[in-house]
Amino acid sequence: MGWFRRKRRSGGAAVVTPRGGRVCDCCNTPMEPGAGYLLATKDVVVSPAYWELNFRATKGLADELRLDTAQLSGLFQDVLRQTAGQHSPWSVCEECSGMFLVDRDSARAHSRAGTAPQGTGRVKPSECAQFAAEGWERIFGSWPASVSRRSPKDICDVCRRSVHEGETTTLVPPDRMAAYRAAGLVGTAAGLPSHPEGHTLCHPCSARLFAGLHRAGGDGGEAGDTGDTAAPAG
Ligand SMILES: [Zn+2]
Ligand SMILES: [Zn+2]
Repeated sequence: MGWFRRKRRSGGAAVVTPRGGRVCDCCNTPMEPGAGYLLATKDVVVSPAYWELNFRATKGLADELRLDTAQLSGLFQDVLRQTAGQHSPWSVCEECSGMFLVDRDSARAHSRAGTAPQGTGRVKPSECAQFAAEGWERIFGSWPASVSRRSPKDICDVCRRSVHEGETTTLVPPDRMAAYRAAGLVGTAAGLPSHPEGHTLCHPCSARLFAGLHRAGGDGGEAGDTGDTAAPAG
């Protein structure tokens, strides 16, 4: 659809660090050359928190343009296709890095060296449509008709968000969870349900925890067991 053009990413090969720095590909904050993290598209598009951020920016524009249902549906498809289609690595600032579950040391090293992380390249939109649809629903209040909704497989013990098949989650043993809460690394207003076998953390809550551990210099690899895909190394 020609009426909508994304301007969030600078495009081109981020592997070659441009002179004079660049901006975070998530929030557009200027970054020093070599600062932050370099991520592959496959690591970005599985983050429900990223999609929420993305669509929050999109919604302002959609409201301004007073898009109808058909146009909104096209907008969702457009953003999904363009985001999944990013072939170059993503520059991500410190703050935004808390949305992603990656090996943070490696992602930082790639940013410093200007090298592409493993798995850099496009992703099939169908592989991340579920996560995008979730973010869309949270921001726009309706589930995109083009994406079939999966039934939840679990609920996050921290934020009570539904967790679906394919989402990376973490299982944190109760004693470790108590320590993380005491250290302020896991925020829960209410008490946690009693789960002797461990607490399930959704992707956003897991990513926040691992980022907090990494910043504190702790060993993120010992946070718990991550399911489904690669566990971040500490
Ligand atoms: Zn950012
Ligand atoms: Zn959660």
